[in-house]
Amino acid sequence: MRVLGIETSCDETGVALYDTERGLLAHALHSQIDMHALYGGVVPELASRDHIRHGALLVQQVLRDAGLEMKDIDGVAYTEGPGLAGALLVGAGLAKALAFGLNKPAIGVHHLEGHLLSPLLAADPPPFPHVALLVSGGHTQLMDVAGVGRYTLLGETIDDAAGEAFDKSAKLLGLPYPGGPKLARLAETGDPKRFSLPRPLLHSGDLNFSFAGLKTAVLTQARKCADLPDTDPWRADLARAFEDAAVDVLSKKAMTALKQTGRKVLVVAGGVGANQRLRATLNALCAKAGVKVYYPDLQFCTDNGAMIALAGALRLVRGQRDAQTGFNVRPRWPLAELDTPPV
Ligand code: ATP
Ligand code: MG
Ligand code: FE
Repeated sequence: MRVLGIETSCDETGVALYDTERGLLAHALHSQIDMHALYGGVVPELASRDHIRHGALLVQQVLRDAGLEMKDIDGVAYTEGPGLAGALLVGAGLAKALAFGLNKPAIGVHHLEGHLLSPLLAADPPPFPHVALLVSGGHTQLMDVAGVGRYTLLGETIDDAAGEAFDKSAKLLGLPYPGGPKLARLAETGDPKRFSLPRPLLHSGDLNFSFAGLKTAVLTQARKCADLPDTDPWRADLARAFEDAAVDVLSKKAMTALKQTGRKVLVVAGGVGANQRLRATLNALCAKAGVKVYYPDLQFCTDNGAMIALAGALRLVRGQRDAQTGFNVRPRWPLAELDTPPV
């Protein structure tokens, strides 16, 4: 079954074609980062309009890249939520119109299920069951994953998401939006011993996270350093201290989740999953604990159409599909409310 996937939940228009027999056939992405950078963050109305400009063109592009035509599409998956309402409506409208015109089924996909299943796009996919560490711009969750649609929340952030903390701390260090990856690059040259930042909730005894206090600690240190000469590398040193603190908490809690559930497989998903220090730390801890750890390809850590095509395909082949009339999006949609598809 060949499934077209459309992702428009935030500031990336992603489109992909996934074949349940042959895997990913083609994918294309248009990032709106440059447009939103002018405003220091995502402007929802501009995001919606830009998805309108690029969605249909990207559909044509992936069909061309895959050497296929419209009639070769067997189903259309789109991100139903969570995300920006207007942006979601553009993707849902495009997907529903295509499905209606082609007389093929459409299916709304949960964006976080897309992230969670994104490592299945890799050549060596993770087996079920496993523990997933989902670290994205809007979410930080530990989940027990028994199978497709069988997710149990083990713990999550009580305030900021990990990616949000990376971005906000980067802003405090004077880096342009979105600063997460730029902070990570700056941290490479930083001295890990100069600053010591807190590890919030590290010893809380549960699997929850908190990143708001860490960001405030960055602010406090940055203020103290504001008058240092330009030659002082405090920004790189502080970036390193932040990254070390965030990675320390994320990796230790992930290991605790593995121990508590008895699972022997860890999956890391979401934009912060691209972070090399997080990957190196988890690789070392998992090797010691006899746990196998899986990551998505770097290009599929952040938002993309491939993960939506894949997640939609896994549900369409199990016979799930949207009702034919009208359509809806779910800007707020807890993963716990997602249904389990028939086996
Ligand atoms: P959600 O999926 O929760 O709705 P989102 O879609 O905005 O949020 P993603 O696209 O998964 O999130 O990830 C984006 C986040 O990942 C940003 O906060 C970005 O700063 C962060 N990020 C990307 N690369 C890195 C990196 N190398 N190191 C740290 N953070 C990173
Ligand atoms: Mg994004
Ligand atoms: Fe995302």
